[in-house]
Amino acid sequence: MTAAHRDTIFALSSGRGRAGVAVIRLSGAGAGAVVDALAAPRPAARRVSLRTIVRPGSGEPLDRGLVLWLPGPESFTGEDMAEFHVHGGPAVISGVLGAIGEVGGMRPAEAGEFTRRAFENGRLDLTEVEGIADMIDAETEAQRRQALRQMEGALGTLYDRWRADLVAMMAELEAVIDFPDEGDVPAELAAGIGRRAADLADEMRAHMDDGRRGERLRDGIQVVIAGRPNVGKSSLLNQLARRDAAIVAERAGTTRDVIEVHLDLAGYPVILVDTAGLREETGDEIEREGMARTRNRLDTADLVVWVTSAPDMEEGSDGALSDAPVDSETLWVVNKSDLAEDLSALLKSCPGMTRAIPISALTGAGLDGLIAELARRAQALAGEGEHVVMTRARHRAALGECLEHLDRVVSGTISEPELVAEDLRRAAHALGRIVGRVDVEDLLDAIFREFCIGK
Ligand code: GDP
Ligand code: ZN
Repeated sequence: MTAAHRDTIFALSSGRGRAGVAVIRLSGAGAGAVVDALAAPRPAARRVSLRTIVRPGSGEPLDRGLVLWLPGPESFTGEDMAEFHVHGGPAVISGVLGAIGEVGGMRPAEAGEFTRRAFENGRLDLTEVEGIADMIDAETEAQRRQALRQMEGALGTLYDRWRADLVAMMAELEAVIDFPDEGDVPAELAAGIGRRAADLADEMRAHMDDGRRGERLRDGIQVVIAGRPNVGKSSLLNQLARRDAAIVAERAGTTRDVIEVHLDLAGYPVILVDTAGLREETGDEIEREGMARTRNRLDTADLVVWVTSAPDMEEGSDGALSDAPVDSETLWVVNKSDLAEDLSALLKSCPGMTRAIPISALTGAGLDGLIAELARRAQALAGEGEHVVMTRARHRAALGECLEHLDRVVSGTISEPELVAEDLRRAAHALGRIVGRVDVEDLLDAIFREFCIGK
């Protein structure tokens, strides 16, 4: 599906704002002419050369910088490309961009257009394209590692192998369909295809049964802090936010709304969510709305940190625990440990709380232990195993569709080989959509919209 691009695109590929170095990229048939016009003589292919960069019409020098000439098809986009590494000042950048624009047939690139050309010229599959987008967005170490694996084709390779299996089964069936005179589909062929389809379906199910680790790592692990009012949830969130130097973003709503803080815990992206307190009854309309949202967040949380307080427990554990979710995955925290007369006796007095982590959001006691436990849980929820994992709902949906067809092949009556072949074809088609080998036009815009200009 190579697309013939007549125009040559150019863009500032490095970030905006004052910087030491700026990188300006070009792709298309006119890239070489631009190098000739701005930085003659044209450097040897794929060699870094220092050049005076000039305005083409007047020959006025603009900067001195590094120039790369990267002829296709062995370039990132598969087309002729060039790069100018110039000083990162705004006047230098606009001067060089303007000079490139003076050369005929040049056009500023749209968002993601370099990567889109790479895809359209068969240099990347869609999972690799997504890997690049994730690489640019990666905020933590684990996110970067996952993005790198996908960018290097780990996911695409797996799906290509499965698709090749399906195509091989189709080919065997077609041979029978094309020569009906040979009689019915031989029994051993039927059994063989059924067995192979079943094996493949098993492998796909194992792949899909990944606890959504890849998606969690990409999107951030949702940790919801919940508990009755006044136990110190907001104080705890503030403490964690203040202590952790690696806060990535902070978004505040109203007091009764949900408040989020993004943390980097040992390389794992954690989204801490503070919720309105849960109370048995309330007449307040706004408070009811807050509690509804709390329950909503609890339902979708990857991990719940249930906070109670030492004074509440001393009053009677029933009051402190009655609202708590009975999930063994819940992380129990006893706050206001500074107010407890005898902390260990208090924890022992409440059988369910022996594994609870005592802290004080006021004094900071126990917080390092809590952070370490949160990091451990985050790794358990989103940590990378030895197998490559899906990173998007799009992958999961297409695989689910593929499995539906494959299951029909497994249980299908092989006396109707045309129907089985059709299911195999649809299964392969669903897989092909993930890597972008078939029927992808509608997907392209959504994927390339994730990019910024110059990528
Ligand atoms: P939330 O309703 O659960 O969010 O509770 P807040 O964080 O708003 O805290 C309720 C009250 O408890 C405030 O007056 C806090 O200062 C106080 N508080 C929070 N944590 C501690 C703690 O560890 N020790 C003590 N003594 N007071 C605390
Ligand atoms: Zn609060």
